[in-house]
Amino acid sequence: MAKKDIDWSNLSFGYQKTDYRYVSYFKDGKWDDGALTTDENIVLNECAGVLQYAQTVFEGLKAYTTSDGRTVVFRPDLNAERLIQSAERLMIPPVSKEQFLDAVKKVVKANEDFVPPYGSGATLYVRPYIFGSNAVIGVKPADEYQFRILCTPVGPYFKGGVKPITIRVCDYDRAAPHGTGHIKAGLNYAMSLYPIVEAHKEGYDENMYLDAATRTYVEETGGANFLFVTKDGKVVTPKSNSILPSITRRSLVQVAREYLGLEAEERPIALEEVKDFAECGLCGTAAVISPVGKIVDHGKEICFPSGMSEMGPVTKKLYETLTGIQMGTIKAPEGWIVEI
Ligand SMILES: *Cc1c(COP(=O)(O)O)cnc(C)c1O
Repeated sequence: MAKKDIDWSNLSFGYQKTDYRYVSYFKDGKWDDGALTTDENIVLNECAGVLQYAQTVFEGLKAYTTSDGRTVVFRPDLNAERLIQSAERLMIPPVSKEQFLDAVKKVVKANEDFVPPYGSGATLYVRPYIFGSNAVIGVKPADEYQFRILCTPVGPYFKGGVKPITIRVCDYDRAAPHGTGHIKAGLNYAMSLYPIVEAHKEGYDENMYLDAATRTYVEETGGANFLFVTKDGKVVTPKSNSILPSITRRSLVQVAREYLGLEAEERPIALEEVKDFAECGLCGTAAVISPVGKIVDHGKEICFPSGMSEMGPVTKKLYETLTGIQMGTIKAPEGWIVEI
């Protein structure tokens, strides 16, 4: 095994072609066995279901090297379960959990030279996705699909140090109300593009979306769940059926309880109570947890004292414990670290 000649620590979060990708085809009511291919291009009919009616779902996880030199992925079983849920909501025939896990292993193994070394902070981002591939012009689910996994090496998230995030409370809905907020699908990201470009123009890093029905409860940002810490050191995170169930957030809640002895609660969180929290972070696979310094609600500023220049103390403990578990320097709960 010879690692590719890549400047790992200076990689950005961008697409870079690797040697192999996985593809499986759904036809005549069933998924085939799947195989690896070196061709990064896809040829589709002009009327493919994915192009006309956005019938596509995806996942995101990372492969990396542990402190003792193993290539691993973090909790891929939860990505499999979530991809199946997302697929079912968009009438996409789900792949089995077994096929998903086998495909992840095969494609990471084949691209092992692109898995960044331990200590570089970089990871191999793994992107499974399923989309409708045959021609559909009447509004209905496609009959044929492709399940694919691409891999691309990505750089360390906190390159050049931690920069706390500034968020605006957003007037748009993140997803269709009562619809698809709980699934990982390109259609939700398409919805978020206009608001995020607008937020950036106004000088904000992210949007905080509120619940569409009452506009009083905190949902999430375009691509990360919120986690708050109360002044007495309790971890609280929004409970809602219209946010994406982040694997990082669920892991952090377990870490808070079982490793740090903290109380952790999932419950509806009113925007009104956010000003009383001591720390705020965003959780997702890419950054694990990134500190939020400021939330602006139509001119009203909420500042998190500890988040303005660095991570707050509880956020930092959560970050260090979960990354320690991922990298193999802290003992992981059963099943969290899967060796390739
Ligand atoms: C992927 C994603 C997250 C983060 O989930 P992780 O499993 O922690 O990576 C949060 N919100 C949305 C909308 C997402 O698509």
